Amino acid sequence: MTVLPPDRLEWVEGWGMSVGAAGYVWRPSTIDGIRQTFGAARAAGVPVVLRGAGCSYGDAALRPETVVLDLGRMNRVLAWDPAAGVIDVEPGVTIRALWRYALGDGWWPPIVTGTMEPTIGGCLAMNVHGKNNWRRGVLGEHCLELDLVLPSGELRTVDAASDRDLHLALIGSFGQLGVITRARLRLKPLASGLLHVRAVAAPDLESMLRLADEAKDSWEYVVGWIDAFARGRRLGRGLLHFARHLEPGEDAAAAQGLRAEAQDLPDTMFGVLPKAMMWRLLRPFTNRPGMRWVNRIRYLAGSTVGDGAEYRQSLAAFSFLLDYVPNWRRIYLPGGLIQHQSMVPSGDAERVFARQLEAAQRRRMPAFLAVLKRHRPDAFLLSHSVDGFSLALDFPVVAPRRDELWALVREMAEPVVESGGRFYPAKDSALPGELYRATFRAGELDRLRQIKQRLDPEHRLRSALADRLLGGGALA
Ligand SMILES: Cc1cc2nc3c(=O)[nH]c(=O)nc-3n(C[C@H](O)[C@H](O)[C@H](O)COP(=O)(O)OP(=O)(O)OC[C@H]3O[C@@H](n4cnc5c(N)ncnc54)[C@H](O)[C@@H]3O)c2cc1C
Repeated sequence: MTVLPPDRLEWVEGWGMSVGAAGYVWRPSTIDGIRQTFGAARAAGVPVVLRGAGCSYGDAALRPETVVLDLGRMNRVLAWDPAAGVIDVEPGVTIRALWRYALGDGWWPPIVTGTMEPTIGGCLAMNVHGKNNWRRGVLGEHCLELDLVLPSGELRTVDAASDRDLHLALIGSFGQLGVITRARLRLKPLASGLLHVRAVAAPDLESMLRLADEAKDSWEYVVGWIDAFARGRRLGRGLLHFARHLEPGEDAAAAQGLRAEAQDLPDTMFGVLPKAMMWRLLRPFTNRPGMRWVNRIRYLAGSTVGDGAEYRQSLAAFSFLLDYVPNWRRIYLPGGLIQHQSMVPSGDAERVFARQLEAAQRRRMPAFLAVLKRHRPDAFLLSHSVDGFSLALDFPVVAPRRDELWALVREMAEPVVESGGRFYPAKDSALPGELYRATFRAGELDRLRQIKQRLDPEHRLRSALADRLLGGGALA
C-alpha cells in the first residue's frame, strides 16, 4: 500500500456547510488523469468519491479518508449542433456555462435547477428536476448518450436507446457506478429570452396544492413558496408562480433577449444595494423570530398587491432565483443548513406535508424556507419522483439542537414512506438509510447491486451518502 500525498488533503464540504470531511483531492483534466486517480486510490487501498461543483446540500460528494475525484476542470463543450440543439459536454460544464453557450442560437437546457452552479455530471448523477418536472421530467430524459469511465479505467459509451437498462440505472445513481466523462443532451428551442409569469396567493395548504395541480398542464413552470411558520387554518399558505415561454411574435425584442448578457442578473437590489452584501443584511434576521417576520411580510405582500400579478421576467431571473443573493447560504453560519425534500403522491400530499410542517413547528424548529413542486414519475432505477408533489424544507443547523433536527427528519420521513413517497438524495444529509431503502420496490436495489458488481466489483466508488442510504455494504 502506498501513502497518499498529504498535500492533497483538503476539507471538503456539502453545500449546506453542515457536513464535511477531509479527503485527498485530485482534479484531472483528461480521461487519463481520471485513470491515474483511480490508480492512486487503488495503490493506497482507499475508495474514490466523485465530485462536481459540490452543490449537493449534504454528504453526496464527500467521504472521510477517501480520494475525491473532482471533475470541475473537465469543462469543455465538445460538439454543438445549433440546428438540432444537440450538445456534447464534458462533465464539469455547469448549467451556467451550458445556457450561456446555447442561448444565442435559441436553445435553453430543458431542465434547470434553482441555482446555475451545478455541473452536468453532478446533475445527471442526481437526475435533477426543475420547476417543470411535471411537463419535462428529469434531466436524464433529455440525455441521448453518455461516456462512462469505470474504476478499472475502461471507457464505455452508453446509448439511451440501445443500452436502455444501463442508462436507466446509471443516471440518478449518485456516482456509484462510474464517472460520466461526456454527456450528449438535447436542449429546448426558445423564441424569446423572456417568460410570462403569473403570481397567485394560496391561503392554505389545500389551495396551494389545488392551484399547483390546476396550473400544471397549462404552464411550463409551476413553483410554490410556503410560509412554514403559519399554523392552524393558515397552515401551508404561500405564493405560487406560474410561467411560460413567450411564443414567436410575442416579444418584439426577442433577438436582444437571446443574448447571454441580456440575462445577467443585476449586481444591485432595488438598483442601489450591492447584492454582494445582501447576505450580511439578512443575517440579523436568520433566527426564528426574524424568519417568522420575513415569511409573514413576504406572504402579506404577495397576497395583497402581488396576488394575480402578471409580468415578464428574464429566463435567468425566474429560473435561478436562488442565485439572486450571492452567498446567501452564509446567513446560516456557523452551523450551516440542511434541506429535506420528500416527494409524496398527490392523494396523500396534503396530509403528509401538514404533518411535516406541524412536526417542525411542534419541535420549535420551523423551516426557514419551504418550496413546493409538482412531479411526475419516471423510469429510472433510483428515481426520486412520483405522481405528486415535493416539499423542500430548509433548516438551520444549531449545534445544541442537531440531534433533535435529525430526529425531526426521521419524524417527517416516516409518513412519506407510508404513503409510497420518495426522497431526493441530492438534498439529503440526515435521512436514516432504512427509510430511504423502504421506498424502493422489491428487486430494485438488488438490480442496482448486480450492476454495481459488474461495473465496480472492487467497490472503489463510495460516498458518505451512499454508505448511509444504501447501508454501507448494502451494495456489496
Ligand atoms: C441552491 C440550490 C438549488 C438547487 N435546486 C435544485 C433543483 O431545483 N432541482 C434539483 O434537482 N436539484 C437542485 N439542487 C441540487 C443540485 O442540483 C444537485 O445536488 C446536483 O447534483 C449538484 O451538482 P454538482 O455538480 O454540484 O454535483 P455534486 O454535488 O458535487 O455531486 C453530486 C453527485 O454527483 C456525483 N458526481 C459528480 N460528478 C459526477 C460525474 N462526472 N460522474 C458521475 N457522478 C458524478 C457525486 O459523486 C455526487 O454523488 C440545488 C442545489 C442548490 C445548492
